[in-house]
Amino acid sequence: MPRSLVLERKGELSLRDIPLDMDMGPTEVRIRVHTVGICGSDVHYYTHGKIGPFVVNEPMVLGHEASGVVIEVGARVRHLKAGDRVCMEPGIPDPASRAAKLGIYNVDPAVTFWATPPVHGCLTPQVVHPAAYTYKLPDNVSFAEGAMVEPFAIGMQAALRARIQPGDVGMVLGAGPIGMMTALAALAGGCAKVLVADLAQPKLDIIGAYPGIETINIRDIPAADAIAKATEGWGADVVFECSGAAPAVLSLPQLVRPGGTAVLVGMPVDPVPMDIVGLQAKELRLETVFRYANVYDRAIALIGAGKVDLKPLISLSMPFEDSIAAFERAAEGRETDVKMQIEMPR
Ligand SMILES: [Zn+2]
Repeated sequence: MPRSLVLERKGELSLRDIPLDMDMGPTEVRIRVHTVGICGSDVHYYTHGKIGPFVVNEPMVLGHEASGVVIEVGARVRHLKAGDRVCMEPGIPDPASRAAKLGIYNVDPAVTFWATPPVHGCLTPQVVHPAAYTYKLPDNVSFAEGAMVEPFAIGMQAALRARIQPGDVGMVLGAGPIGMMTALAALAGGCAKVLVADLAQPKLDIIGAYPGIETINIRDIPAADAIAKATEGWGADVVFECSGAAPAVLSLPQLVRPGGTAVLVGMPVDPVPMDIVGLQAKELRLETVFRYANVYDRAIALIGAGKVDLKPLISLSMPFEDSIAAFERAAEGRETDVKMQIEMPR
């Protein structure tokens, strides 16, 4: 039985042996896990025991942002071999489903996703995973960066949904990890510049260090005033709402230019009312994002080409033996921590 990081119940973690299904089918690969990022969702399950309808009712292994090394491949696997360095997409759809056939497998009702109850995650020494959702890393992309592909994929999905045109002015509300990933994906996707708004200055300082990013501290100036100033009153071509905060959602019609686009990335805890007429009066296009589909290859290509550097967003790496302490620190939500990672023992 593999020693894993187990969420026993709300507020209680342990490092212990737990029985996991390790059978490998002909289209699957066995992977030795190397690095796992701690996600806000992992922390939320730890502190709250649930996210929306997903409730932790029995012990569950946490973690879904992983990279590793292939150690065995199924008989029908062609594109991977033992020794390959890889990262894994944590959501597995039913390939025969209607959603999968449409290419929108992220919204397949049958999707299983690591560390979403009752599915175990990847903070465990080895995982068995479909080869089709396992991606080879270029030699110049580290395991730490490989484990960043999962959160970056959400930014990629947001940038794709926005249908950015070269030279667009982008705006991101919320400088959490996903806001930062979205800002970088929007830049890589063709935005001339991206303004990132938040009220936590340490977060703004981290993302503001990237060329092409300008920051707005909404304690000093309202986001609407800042974007008006930056665009001579016209508004942003694309605004990505990544905070999940109701006032930010409500402000979208004031921030987007006429005919522009608002992308809803952040997930408000409660339903948020919307200024419909505000949207209509500018004929804004509204897009939503749920996880991602078919973006891993693109994300890895951008990182491998050096067009996106996620390394400055990795705040701290801790050994697996200290993973409970790592989760406690993540739960503190320090404003200087972006992404914390756990390294599995060799
Ligand atoms: Zn995540």
